[in-house]
Amino acid sequence: MGIPILGNMKFTVGWLYPDLMNIYGDRGNILTLLRRAEWHGYETTVVELGRGSTTQMDDVDVFFFGGGQDREQALIYDDLREFKQASLQRAVQNGAQILAVCGGYQLLGHYYQTADGKRYDGIGLIDVRTEAGKRRFIGDVVVQAEIEGLSPSTLVGFENHSGRTFLGPKAKPLGRVLQGHGNNGADRREGCVQGGVIGTYMHGSLLPKNPHLADHLIAAALRRRGAGALSHLDDSAELAAHDWILQRAQRR
Ligand code: GLN
Repeated sequence: MGIPILGNMKFTVGWLYPDLMNIYGDRGNILTLLRRAEWHGYETTVVELGRGSTTQMDDVDVFFFGGGQDREQALIYDDLREFKQASLQRAVQNGAQILAVCGGYQLLGHYYQTADGKRYDGIGLIDVRTEAGKRRFIGDVVVQAEIEGLSPSTLVGFENHSGRTFLGPKAKPLGRVLQGHGNNGADRREGCVQGGVIGTYMHGSLLPKNPHLADHLIAAALRRRGAGALSHLDDSAELAAHDWILQRAQRR
């Protein structure tokens, strides 16, 4: 479908540690961000941000930081602090957005402590702390989102984590858990929203069945470039998948 490119409007996704922090289909979030931005008329670029220094982070609109087991988190956390932290802080201050899932979410907080007591200091971009428990939380997740104007107001995904994340006063939950465990299986909250950062335990991958959240991220990031409202897209297929998960949850 020939899609007119809006002037020279470009949209760039920064993919953090694509080789190591990318489990349970998380790369589907990258594909969704790129395709939807193109369908909205933007020229897209994806910058892969693996380990090592980089000069490519300043022009990124949305960063994606996927999930990873304790082993992969240990392999990247020094690099995150040494080579990515300052640029991420600067980017978010300049209006870029970050979507972080599970292992990525945990490392953007103050620390992640594994079940055997090993503590990985995070980069403190969000006011959360995580300590792993013995039991893994695995299964479908349905959330009543607390992002103003999100329509539909539900989010659906899949969780698989041992970490229990607790929010400090500067962070707000992404939403209320309707099905599943969410952040810690105790306070019935899932994820975190703080400034331009959205953290969540929802794999799935998350964005293909939550196109409204994808557009929320794209629009928020492009606002700093003076972009107006995004065009309307026919999301009937994506929302049919979303609704099927909701109906399945209600049958349980
Ligand atoms: N290793 C972390 C945990 O078990 C994150 C897992 C993940 O990214 N799915 O909580």
